[in-house]
Amino acid sequence: MTVAAELRPASSAAVADRVVIIGGGASGTLTALNLLRTDPRVHVTVFEPTGRLGSGVAYGTTDARHLLNVRAGNMSAFPQEPGDLLTWAEQTGRELSATDFLPRREYGEYLRDRLADTAGRRLRVIAERVEEITPVPGGYEVRGHAGAAAVSASVVLAHGNEAPGHLAIGGTPLPEAPWHVADPWNLSWIEALAPDATVVVVGTGLTAIDTAISVLDGAPQRSVVMVSRHGLLPQAHIDCQCVAWVSALPSGPLTADQLADLYQQQVEAAAEHGVNWHHVVDGFRGPTQSIWARLPLAERERFLAVYARAWEVRRHRMAPQIAARLDAFQAEGRLRVSSGGITGIEEASPYPLVRIGEAEVAAHAVVNCTGPQTDVTRSANPVLSALLRRGLAAPDELRLGLSCTPQGELLDAVGQIVPGLLTVGPPRKGTLYETTAIPEIRVQAAEVAAHLRGPRSRATA
Ligand SMILES: Cc1cc2nc3c(=O)[nH]c(=O)nc-3n(C[C@H](O)[C@H](O)[C@H](O)COP(=O)(O)OP(=O)(O)OC[C@H]3O[C@@H](n4cnc5c(N)ncnc54)[C@H](O)[C@@H]3O)c2cc1C
Repeated sequence: MTVAAELRPASSAAVADRVVIIGGGASGTLTALNLLRTDPRVHVTVFEPTGRLGSGVAYGTTDARHLLNVRAGNMSAFPQEPGDLLTWAEQTGRELSATDFLPRREYGEYLRDRLADTAGRRLRVIAERVEEITPVPGGYEVRGHAGAAAVSASVVLAHGNEAPGHLAIGGTPLPEAPWHVADPWNLSWIEALAPDATVVVVGTGLTAIDTAISVLDGAPQRSVVMVSRHGLLPQAHIDCQCVAWVSALPSGPLTADQLADLYQQQVEAAAEHGVNWHHVVDGFRGPTQSIWARLPLAERERFLAVYARAWEVRRHRMAPQIAARLDAFQAEGRLRVSSGGITGIEEASPYPLVRIGEAEVAAHAVVNCTGPQTDVTRSANPVLSALLRRGLAAPDELRLGLSCTPQGELLDAVGQIVPGLLTVGPPRKGTLYETTAIPEIRVQAAEVAAHLRGPRSRATA
């Protein structure tokens, strides 16, 4: 059907009953799932270039050794049904307990299965990358790179995690070269890696750990050097799923330093009761969004500059069995973790020489695991360029994502709500800070579905 046909007055109810979602990773899939489950009239169109929903960067990994970083008991698609992932595991013949860490690619299967249970003929998937979004009477026309288009009163942006920004050493960008792996989530380069390769991984977060596991596991002659500014690896989960330690918070505005003191006091108070810091971190997770809202902009900036890394390595923990593999690699001398960053890189044959502190490493590959690029003004994603160009979106003040309300309504450059445009997941980071993992995304997806049911019920009343 042409766009003009879709815009005929007779189709206005259909336009009001349709929701377009841009991106079919976990955020887009959970949003589609919640919409289709709770509203029998709604039709959902998802644009996802891979044509495969539920995967995205986290659950699209092809390596079965990449595990969830969150226990299965906290990874249900539905906040009101916390046991649903475990039910699915049982239905599909898997042994999975609430404290286990499922391979991430199987989690993608779970989301696809649950969507298939629900969608029927009300779901349309368009395997195209969205390049344009245009306001039209009654809503927006969303257009993919190969020309497919859909019109809807409501569009949900679930474009998720962008690839890391370009690596640069001393201001000079790393050249495009076979040894330079710019996208750490596409693992195809590892197939061609020599059995005795040395790999430099830039970054020490969870993606860097995935990379080290994929390179080193089962390849005893390979080695990895991980390097980041702080050289801090994520902490490991502990083998117990105890109750979070809930901290009493003072009322009123907060500063980043007060917050750090508060955390330290709570860790000490918990320790006096024999409670580990892990439970204090888990206790802070629930109120993180409201704490963030109480920090003035300058204090958020100070938190990011001074405390964020120390918080992130405690908050985003790895499965204990992954931590045990890393310990073993380090004990074997095959994994080294350095702080300070790369100080130089020299083209040499057959491999470039990478300087890390005093050491020089002939690297078969240099992998960029510095984390998603979050500044939308520098994004290579055409839908973001289109939104900014049309004044339908703006970066948040901290350049962590899109400017939006806590409910995900997009704000334009002067802070006005843009009707009908919402976002779910990582793009809300500037507003909420804690927004990138399933326990938060599933709540947002359910809330967005409820929010969108309101206008539709009025339009068709
Ligand atoms: C390596 C890794 C591991 C993680 N592990 C966990 C975990 O164990 N537990 C947990 O709770 N969280 C985990 N997370 C957090 C993770 O961010 C979320 O769980 C979730 O996967 C985010 O999903 P998303 O759909 O928002 O983003 P993404 O996974 O990035 O998906 C976005 C999708 O949008 C599509 N897209 C982008 N632009 C366009 C466009 N212009 N047009 C159409 N489609 C577009 C992309 O193709 C992609 O499929 C992990 C994150 C990473 C990076």
